[in-house]
Amino acid sequence: MKIRILDILEETMADGPGLRTSIYCAGCAHHCPGCHNPQSWDFNAGREATVDELLAVIKEDKFCNVTFSGGDPLYQVEAFTELARRIKEETGKNIWCYTGFTYEEILADSRLSMILPYIDTLVEGPFIQELRDPDLHFRGSSNQRIIHITPQEDDDIPGTNTDYTI
Ligand code: SF4
Repeated sequence: MKIRILDILEETMADGPGLRTSIYCAGCAHHCPGCHNPQSWDFNAGREATVDELLAVIKEDKFCNVTFSGGDPLYQVEAFTELARRIKEETGKNIWCYTGFTYEEILADSRLSMILPYIDTLVEGPFIQELRDPDLHFRGSSNQRIIHITPQEDDDIPGTNTDYTI
């Protein structure tokens, strides 16, 4: 299976707690006004990478956890689910996934929700310019929620005020 990616950032601290390998995918149809990265909207941008290739990069670093971002990974949910399942089966790494869909929209859609069993934390919802808050950690606007799907050691993320534990 292949994922259309824009970039792979290794050892980043911007996309969740601690050091992480972040996979930035191509394509997003949410088109939020004020999006920090409208170049990522193009579903044909970047290049294709196989799940095996991405898994090899992720495994190379023994200490980094993993973040899926974009674009919106849920527009390629089948391939990201396969990658997340392999990460869970073959490593002990924690996975954060960013998406412009809300948690409720994901739960209501059997296709989108196929990834949830393999994700530890979802950072969800569209970016809303009027709710932009630069003091928030790991998200851009205050409507976006950090939803822990599995129990997290680092629940207490500084600067956040709307963490939800499901
Ligand atoms: S969901 Fe994220 S990448 Fe997509 S338009 Fe909104 S802010 Fe940009």
